[in-house]
Amino acid sequence: MDYADFHRRSLTERDAFWSEQAQLVDWHTPPTQICDYSNPPFAKWFVGGTTNLCHNAVDRHLATRPDQAALIFVSTETGIERTYSFRELHAEVQRMAATLLGLGVKQGDRVLIYMPMIPEAAFAMLACARIGAIHSVVFGGFASVSLASRIDDAEPTVIVSADAGSRGGKVVAYKPLLDEAIKLAVHKPAKVLMVDRGLSPFDRVEGRDEDYATWRDGQADTVVPCAWLDSTHPSYTLYTSGTTGKPKGVQRDTGGYAVALAASMKYIYLGNAGETYFSTSDIGWVVGHSYIVYGPLIAGMATIMYEGLPIRPDAAIWWSLVEKYKVTSMFSAPTAVRVLKKQDPAALKKHDLSSLRALFLAGEPLDEPTAQWISDALGRPIIDNYWQTETGWPILSLCNGVEKAVSKFGSPGKAVYGYDVKLIDEGTGEELKGANQKGVVVIEGPLPPGCMQTVWRDDERFVKTYWTRVRGKVVDGVQQPDRHLYSTFDWGVRDADGYYFILGRTDDVINVAGHRLGTREIEESLSSHASVAEVAVVGVADQLKGQVAMAFVVLKDASRAATPEGALALEGELMKVVDNQLGAVARPSRVRFISALPKTRSGKMLRRVIQAICEGRDPGDLSTVEDPTAVQQIRELFAAR
Ligand code: ATP
Ligand code: MG
Repeated sequence: MDYADFHRRSLTERDAFWSEQAQLVDWHTPPTQICDYSNPPFAKWFVGGTTNLCHNAVDRHLATRPDQAALIFVSTETGIERTYSFRELHAEVQRMAATLLGLGVKQGDRVLIYMPMIPEAAFAMLACARIGAIHSVVFGGFASVSLASRIDDAEPTVIVSADAGSRGGKVVAYKPLLDEAIKLAVHKPAKVLMVDRGLSPFDRVEGRDEDYATWRDGQADTVVPCAWLDSTHPSYTLYTSGTTGKPKGVQRDTGGYAVALAASMKYIYLGNAGETYFSTSDIGWVVGHSYIVYGPLIAGMATIMYEGLPIRPDAAIWWSLVEKYKVTSMFSAPTAVRVLKKQDPAALKKHDLSSLRALFLAGEPLDEPTAQWISDALGRPIIDNYWQTETGWPILSLCNGVEKAVSKFGSPGKAVYGYDVKLIDEGTGEELKGANQKGVVVIEGPLPPGCMQTVWRDDERFVKTYWTRVRGKVVDGVQQPDRHLYSTFDWGVRDADGYYFILGRTDDVINVAGHRLGTREIEESLSSHASVAEVAVVGVADQLKGQVAMAFVVLKDASRAATPEGALALEGELMKVVDNQLGAVARPSRVRFISALPKTRSGKMLRRVIQAICEGRDPGDLSTVEDPTAVQQIRELFAAR
């Protein structure tokens, strides 16, 4: 089918289009209205319908594929590898659901999940969905303060946790962090349900802490039916990554999410029932929600849940899993690819990857050299896709399940069906309709199914943060309705073929003597120099020019900048690269060399932290920074000035 038609129809015949997609999932009661947009920018999808995410992910497959693998758990940290069939998953989810009910969880209650990548985490998410409790997964890497603020926001009845996680063979005890967080939080959960992996002994709080093994043992054949929930019933809340500031609590529905995921598995991720999906993300992130747990299972696929590093025991580990489980679709992040890039590419070639239809990458910009490197190393198609925690599934991608499309490295592709993506001039608010014009990436409302309903308990923040209202014009004496535009806060450009290129966050647009430049453009230019492994560019306030670009470079071989003369010579070379490619206005005022960049645990560059230090401001919350030495090095460079 012609993709342009498919996309157009998703917008011009919205209800008919989504009504067809709704057939991809089971409904207990079919919806009576496809989209209620009577109160913009709030959109309600599949109104009047009742369904259940857990039913669609688990129960409905029992009739056709009970003994097929559903969840494949692989931990290179503990050496455990175990496959759960749909039948076994069904039993485990019911045991967890019965336990939560036994602990007093009711429909609409929140359950906070603070867990490592173990099967019980997925059981807990699905169990919540089953009984209509709202889960709020907090990434296991977060320490007490971040966790406490999320406890206070979600106000959970029960917290499900585990004794410990493990990273690179090092046990990370969770229970002391959780105890401390509960102490710090104003809200106190009634119960804490502990999964004891036997990794790290912990203290139990009398009357509050419960042992999951004991609860589970008591209910071998428990039956807990799925609660039929309104399509608009919230399924979960999840925070954005906090790259640009205070994280936002995203609230997602039930029916719209099920339909959006089912359709994306078909049209974007090329997943069919009976096949195997492998996403290397973590359940603490949106990718983990959509494409480790719900998406693949809704599609009737086996999903691999992996605990461990990409390079341990060696750089071949992921690819050995692709071969062993005949993975057809794989999903990872550019940051993981950059980790692999530092390894011998031969490790990626050791295994038979012929089952793999494509490797999907998302979460941050995928620069062309990195895309080219992984494409050459794997010999399989690489598909970039762009989205946000807020949307829950891709905004930009290639929909190869609709029509085969060619990748353009550096671009996450075209607007995905259901998304009315536009570019807006930041200054005038005018839509940029021509090719190659730079602007803010916005989505005209309503957002398609599966996207955020609101900010948890804060409708006003949802409207104020994301939406701009554009007054309707009078056409032939008729007042046109107002339009509502959702801002992604990303800056981009679209080429003549409709492919978008993300140029950076709107915060990362710098204004040098009146010229607007995306930090990403300067980063890409610097990356093309053979010595550069990674680079971050930030705009720093400057009295003369308004802002200047400051570049921080990690070299492939640090010895090139080991002496002051070497560093100066290389700095000059790099500036020349930018001069030649983008022009002198884009030339960074300084290029500094460091051994690591400040990133979040999910690999997102914390430019706001770098920028704050460069401008002598307080960088704020550093608890999400993966490698504190990166921050230290930048501080030292600036103290030494
Ligand atoms: P916060 O909103 O709290 O500052 P965040 O935006 O990093 O955090 P996420 O929702 O995890 O939180 O990330 C979405 C953002 O990641 C996008 O808005 C975009 O900036 C970036 N991004 C995601 N995928 C891509 C991609 N394929 N190419 C370029 N950028 C991407
Ligand atoms: Mg964001």
